[in-house]
Amino acid sequence: MSIETSQRIVIKIGSALIAPEQDGCRSRYLLNIAQFIVQCRAKGKEVLLVSSGAVAAGSHLFKNKDKSSVAVKKAMAAAGQTEMISTWERFFDFPSAQLLLTHGDLRDRDRYNSIRETLFTLLEQGILPIINENDAVTTDELKVGDNDNLSAMVAAAADADCLIICSDVNGLYDKDPNKNPDARLLDTVGELTPEIYAMTGGPTSSVGTGGMRTKLQAAEKATSHGIVTYIVNGFNEDTFSGLLNGANPGTRFMPYDTPMQEAVHWMTHTASEQGELIVEASEFDELSCDELSCDDIVAVNGDFSAGETVLVRNEDGQKLAKANSNYSSCLLNFIAQQDKDIVTEKVQDSIGPVISQNDIAVFEERKS
Ligand code: GLU
Repeated sequence: MSIETSQRIVIKIGSALIAPEQDGCRSRYLLNIAQFIVQCRAKGKEVLLVSSGAVAAGSHLFKNKDKSSVAVKKAMAAAGQTEMISTWERFFDFPSAQLLLTHGDLRDRDRYNSIRETLFTLLEQGILPIINENDAVTTDELKVGDNDNLSAMVAAAADADCLIICSDVNGLYDKDPNKNPDARLLDTVGELTPEIYAMTGGPTSSVGTGGMRTKLQAAEKATSHGIVTYIVNGFNEDTFSGLLNGANPGTRFMPYDTPMQEAVHWMTHTASEQGELIVEASEFDELSCDELSCDDIVAVNGDFSAGETVLVRNEDGQKLAKANSNYSSCLLNFIAQQDKDIVTEKVQDSIGPVISQNDIAVFEERKS
């Protein structure tokens, strides 16, 4: 499996490649990457670009400010984003489009579908989508936080078949290459086991927010959607000629043989839970994890609206599934205080079950 057979590619570029000195954008490393995008398109492939670098690009405009302040960071992102986009646009003689997303957008099923629709329409028109997190508006609660995970969410949303994460390291090593001269670069990873995660150290770059751990999380998200994922060194010119020739210049993560269904993948890897439903494990098993009614719920934790994602746990705290609740926490708590038989029946007749069959992602170890 190589990029030769891939049709729709997401390429993620880290901040260190765009603004290596954190004083505005530099084209030094981008030329190669832009040529790679042009050549992929010339071969008939569709490309989406997830570009970091807004904060690093805008940083030099705030010289006398406290750059650890969230307000300043957001302002740096807003100012740097325009410079970053115009830097990319200079390389291309085809149109591009800017999409700024937050986790709040991606975890809302309607907005997620709306993003998908926009991406598909742009690709159909031959327009290059350039995507970043909307750092200027995000709060801790609403942000993805790093563009590695964002790129995997975008790759899944766009139904891509290849994700290339360009970093300042050659790929995944079996131990920290900065401390161990005998560290070995892994060529191919079949499964992201705890042993693989244990190989990651802290972030390697002083620019940007991602480290090897977020890259592995991204690989997990993407490969479970059936997307082959590469971590490569974007500073190295040979990386891109290698990729075009079907070689693997870094570490390649193999896609799952049986990818998750779209809705289950979204719920597992993109949506985040807004509350919890506690059920009796035996009831959950009896229901074959299909459908949950008010009677099956022992307790409700947190505040959530109807349609939001919740975690389903048993009374021992074991995580059973993630699901969309058709009921708000408020309604569920109200029902719990009433004469269950009468109210439950009435409400369920009009709303249906608390969780419907197609809106539940059961955690792997729960599957028989
Ligand atoms: N969205 C951030 C930016 O444009 C980058 C996040 C990251 O480095 O992963 O500066």
